[in-house]
Order: sequence, then structure tokens, then C-alpha cells
Amino acid sequence: NAPVEAAASTIPIAGVKGTTTERTFIAVKPDGVQRGLVGEVISRFERRGYKLVGLKLLVPSKALVEQHYGDLKGRPFFNGLVDYMSNGKAPVVGMVWQGKDVIRQGRKLLGATNPLDSEPGTLRADYCTAVGRNCFHGSDSHEAATTEISLWFGEKAVFDWKQALEPWIAS
Ligand code: ADP
Repeated sequence: NAPVEAAASTIPIAGVKGTTTERTFIAVKPDGVQRGLVGEVISRFERRGYKLVGLKLLVPSKALVEQHYGDLKGRPFFNGLVDYMSNGKAPVVGMVWQGKDVIRQGRKLLGATNPLDSEPGTLRADYCTAVGRNCFHGSDSHEAATTEISLWFGEKAVFDWKQALEPWIAS
């Protein structure tokens, strides 16, 4: 049987901000994959009521990571960051999650960039100690979500499915 093609989305790639169609790009970085945290991330977003609309395992090219972190070019840790994301010692798991305010809520679930500043109970506070090994990524704005979902997935790889519980979670 041929695989089911993702339905062409009728909404913008990052959805409509603040609504149940809003989408964000979440990634488990190679250290998070090595640490066995993929299931933990999926579980925390699922139990919150969010809908998984994109999922892939990949070793990103250097060019993809350089584009993804383009605003950090020139920072002292930039080359190390690009190497650690793209050297293939472990893959990255990329996800697209959908639901009300998922961009800001997703960042809250991850916690602050530096685990030292992450609130207890967040993923980075629960599992990380170093900013250079903070295991997870989440889009930080609607603009970033649009760019990052396009870059890592493209419209066709995002799966538009109906979640039966959606009206009970948000409207
Ligand atoms: P976030 O990932 O929370 O959006 P940034 O965009 O500021 O944060 O940084 C991107 C990533 O770059 C961080 O998640 C982290 O992996 C890495 N990074 C940021 N600051 C440092 C640092 N001082 N030393 C090493 N790595 C860093």
C-alpha cells in the first residue's frame, strides 16, 4: 500500500497565532536523543493536549543547522553548536506540535535556555545542567516557527489530522 500523503494544509504553515491551529517546531537535539528523552518530550506535549502533526529522525546538514541558528553566527559557541548538531554522532528528532498558544507554552515546557535559569519541573531543569547541552529546541516566536517548520519539514511533511478530543481541550 502506498503511504498516505499528508493533506495539503489550508492554514499557514505555523497556523494562526493564539488559536488551536498554531504550530511550533520542537526538536530533541543529539544529546537529548543520546539521553533517551524523546519519549519524555512527546509524552509531556501529548498529556498537555497538544497534537503531533510532524515527526522525523535525521542528521541535519551543516548548512541546515547554520541556517536554523543564523542569528547566532559570530557567537563564540557557534561552530561548536553547528558541529554538535550535525556531526551524526546521534540524530536529531524534529517535531511539529499544534494547539492553542503552543509556541509560548512549548517554550515554557522546555524551560529557559540556560538550565541554571530553568524553572523546576521544566524539561531543561529536570534533565540538563549546561547551556551547551540543553537537549531541546523550541521556536521562540510565530515568525521563527514559520521559518523553522518550512526549513525542517516543509508544508507537505506536516500532517493535518482531526483530533477527536480537540473541542474538549481548547476552542
Ligand atoms: P534557545 O535554544 O532557548 O532558543 P538561543 O537561541 O539563545 O536559545 O541559543 C540557541 C542554542 O545555542 C541554545 O539552545 C544552546 O544549545 C546554544 N547556546 C546558547 N548560548 C550558549 C552558550 N553560552 N554556550 C554554548 N552554547 C550556547
